[in-house]
Amino acid sequence: MQTKQELRNIRDDSAESIEAGNCTIDDAFMLLNNPLILFSFADSLRKKAAGDRVTYVINRNINFTNMCIGTCKFCAFKKEEGYIMSIPEILEKTRAAAKINATEVCIQGGLLPDWDVFDYCNILENIKNEFPDMHIHAFSPMEVYHASQNSNMGYKETLSHLKRSGLGSMPGTAAEILVDRVREEICPDKLTANEWMEVIKTAHNSGIPTTATIMYGHIETLQERIEHIMLIREIQKKTGGFTEFVPLPFMPSNNILGMGKSVSRGIEDLKLHALARVILYPYVKNIQASWVKLGRELAQSALTCGANDLGGTLMEEQISKSAGSTSGEYMAPFEFEGLIRQMNRLPQQRDTLYGVVSRGRESLTPSG
Ligand code: SF4
Repeated sequence: MQTKQELRNIRDDSAESIEAGNCTIDDAFMLLNNPLILFSFADSLRKKAAGDRVTYVINRNINFTNMCIGTCKFCAFKKEEGYIMSIPEILEKTRAAAKINATEVCIQGGLLPDWDVFDYCNILENIKNEFPDMHIHAFSPMEVYHASQNSNMGYKETLSHLKRSGLGSMPGTAAEILVDRVREEICPDKLTANEWMEVIKTAHNSGIPTTATIMYGHIETLQERIEHIMLIREIQKKTGGFTEFVPLPFMPSNNILGMGKSVSRGIEDLKLHALARVILYPYVKNIQASWVKLGRELAQSALTCGANDLGGTLMEEQISKSAGSTSGEYMAPFEFEGLIRQMNRLPQQRDTLYGVVSRGRESLTPSG
């Protein structure tokens, strides 16, 4: 049988090389053509990299504005007549996060034409003044690029202002697919693949860790998905600054790119998570399954295909919701723990940088 032969080939020829961190494009295609082998191989690498614990973080999103000068064709979030939150409003949302024992606020927003680095720093400083222990995970490489352009500063100087003002880590969003052919079509005004990588490497070299993401399932080819994940691996080999890799499926509602398209979630999503685990092993330890994008059941399935993290509680999630996500805006810690235990795995609350957060018994109850 072909599958058995392929399995033998992987076990004998490729498995060792992949486990040593050298998955090639050919290996990736061979595994994609054999999903059952891919899934079980990814699951074994997950166990080696991260064991049986499945982590989640108590956090909240604060999207401080939905106005934006960007023109991304997949965007369902920006509005012509939108809002800009005041500092008191941002602080009120941070207070609500602190009340539910959040360890992180995740802050991102649209690109306001006149905002420079000091406007971004102002948000950070006000939060840190009142909540010195709150981890601020904020500002995508696109926002850092925008702040740097509007401030006539290089990335290094921009990032050093942000860090001094309290930036703890950055979301590696705005990556979409790190291939300019794709970017020119879906987000022509966004920073280029090289610019994204430069901002990220500068952040890592400045002591600011980031996540890494991929937005897949639109116009990209399989080869381009693989190339994207391999670029992440190359950066991680040099800097070690990625905390996790987060596959983000394209959401087709309420945006130009998705017009007339519908998507069904399933095996392609699981293959992407498994492929990420295999290509990024052993350099990136954590692969996240986003419950907001995948839905709870598919996120659970991804835990058997290479993922070891379920992301955040995400009180008031707006960006995916505007693009058609129906998974909800908040998932309580007891729900995470229930989903994880159903998969015979061990739940563990973490902080943004994957430090263990100890919680009392309340996390197991609906009032947690
Ligand atoms: S995705 Fe972000 S940068 Fe692009 S248009 Fe939407 S809000 Fe603006």
